[in-house]
Amino acid sequence: MSYVQDHLSRRDFLRNTACTAAATGAALSSSALAADVPAGKTPALPYGVLGRTKYPVTLVSFGAILIADSIGTRVVKAGIDAGMNLLHTSMTYMKGKSVPAIGELFKADKRYREKVFLCLKSFTPDKDQELNEMLEALGTDYTDVLLSTMDKPDPARLETIQKAQESLKKRGKIRHTGFVCHGDMNGVCEMVLEKASDFFDVCLLSTAPLGLAGDRRSPKADEQTQRFIKNLKALRSKGVGILSMKSGAKEASRRGAEVFGPHVKAVLAAGCDSVLTSINTLDQVGMIRTLKLQASTTPADEQAAAEFSRSRGNACMMCGQCSKGCPNGVPVADLMRIRMYYREYGWCDHARSEFQALGRNLPALTARCSDCTVCGRACPAGLANSLLVQDIASLFA
Ligand code: SF4
Ligand code: SF4
Repeated sequence: MSYVQDHLSRRDFLRNTACTAAATGAALSSSALAADVPAGKTPALPYGVLGRTKYPVTLVSFGAILIADSIGTRVVKAGIDAGMNLLHTSMTYMKGKSVPAIGELFKADKRYREKVFLCLKSFTPDKDQELNEMLEALGTDYTDVLLSTMDKPDPARLETIQKAQESLKKRGKIRHTGFVCHGDMNGVCEMVLEKASDFFDVCLLSTAPLGLAGDRRSPKADEQTQRFIKNLKALRSKGVGILSMKSGAKEASRRGAEVFGPHVKAVLAAGCDSVLTSINTLDQVGMIRTLKLQASTTPADEQAAAEFSRSRGNACMMCGQCSKGCPNGVPVADLMRIRMYYREYGWCDHARSEFQALGRNLPALTARCSDCTVCGRACPAGLANSLLVQDIASLFA
């Protein structure tokens, strides 16, 4: 029997993750939760509960990575008016224009700030300056959750984040604790579960390791997927609210409700509370309003989600394995993520700013790749290799 035959079909996988989700309480319906929501706070769109925060978060939430200027402000307003009630941004998005564009709305009408669960990303947990600048630009005193970046299982950074967030919470600048990972997803989740399982209220994770992207069937890819499912389940059982990113939602939304709806259902069924989607057009907002996410998943939904996944090819699983053994210290996983932004998503400006933030002489580092095959052998998705790494390293150099 071949390896492929020996393993689950995609449809089986989607079914299994849905069963797992139901068994762990991940599949949530608004009717089951309505009693927990304070009067007058019931979201206008289908919602679940964001872990121990108990916040009734809409199943699709607003990612502001492409928001800038007054047009962006209008789109954010439309999204909140449509009912989306979780908003995520960062000082780095759109070369710093995302935060002020949202601030324009919040300052013009403070009710918009109160209508959302605000999630801010933090790169420098040991310094208040980054958060203070964002809060000032947004015209608010606090964020609902701070998502501090942890891209590898580094206990020292974890400790720094815990101390900083405890202090921020005492001072009323954050309501809930959180982390976001763009690198070694399984390694970071496992470190959090081992050392800080009761600390974080919310996490923002790439759901690419779930295997929703592409049709990978290598033993290494399956191992990453199974570990990730186990980690998601463990985090959920600890009450951590889980936000999904980089599932392919933006591309699915471009293809319309008949693809986006089934894709979102598949991600939620795998154990996430809300699917963060980068939104930058009024059409997207209009499409999201029409989704019937509470309806049961049908065979047609499963087929649409599976076809969408297959159509994307083998996307990066964001597992961080390619960076681990590089003899030249090349941040291969970061480069592969930047490539995804640039080539797959078409986010050229964001890719450029992430590239510049690496602050390394990458062409010089990758010039030493020669015939090295370390990252290629480590990559479970069969993506990384020296030629590709050299190509990305020269993109914005
Ligand atoms: S091919 Fe280059 S980037 Fe990849 S591991 Fe080898 S030296 Fe590092
Ligand atoms: S390129 Fe491969 S090894 Fe590197 S993060 Fe992506 S899937 Fe993992």
